[in-house]
Amino acid sequence: MPKVAGKSVSSRIQIIGCILGPTDDARRQMTDIVDSQTRSRMMAGIRGRNTKPELALRHSLHALGLRYRLYVKGVPGKPDIVLPKYHAVIFVHGCFWHRHAGCRYATVPATRPEFWTTKFDANVARDAAVESALLKAGWRVGTVWECALRTDTGIAKTRDIVAAWLHSGDAVLEVGEADVGTAPRPEPDPGSR
Ligand SMILES: [Zn+2]
Repeated sequence: MPKVAGKSVSSRIQIIGCILGPTDDARRQMTDIVDSQTRSRMMAGIRGRNTKPELALRHSLHALGLRYRLYVKGVPGKPDIVLPKYHAVIFVHGCFWHRHAGCRYATVPATRPEFWTTKFDANVARDAAVESALLKAGWRVGTVWECALRTDTGIAKTRDIVAAWLHSGDAVLEVGEADVGTAPRPEPDPGSR
């Protein structure tokens, strides 16, 4: 029987697990704090493609007659949506993973903070570098946070905001649930009573 690279099957699986995914601890924590869609994306170690919010935004833009391309090669950061006619790209970012500032979904796990901080900082730094490279290359950059796309109202409002931005001359756009009016009212601070 041929030997498989001198390793037993179980140790190979362990090695593959180390390369591909987070530890069991991290996996358990993710189970506690993120929804299943975000979790499967995190497990896969890649940014989400064709996620439900992204598809919803794409379909609503298409219905407005706005024509886009997906993941165009040679464009920095492989944006989710590229609108060449408007020299614009759009990222649909998950609030937890990409750290939507001030968003209720950008929670910080209570355990192993250094593990998460390192990951979050790297994501934020990468997103900033990509945006800066795109702007330098003459692209306009839109960021739509997933929290804006959780309801039909949010999707319709986001579509209108994005459409208005495309026809404006503005270089950057950011849309979150606070911009589409679907965020809950902030709870009163118990300390202020
Ligand atoms: Zn958000």
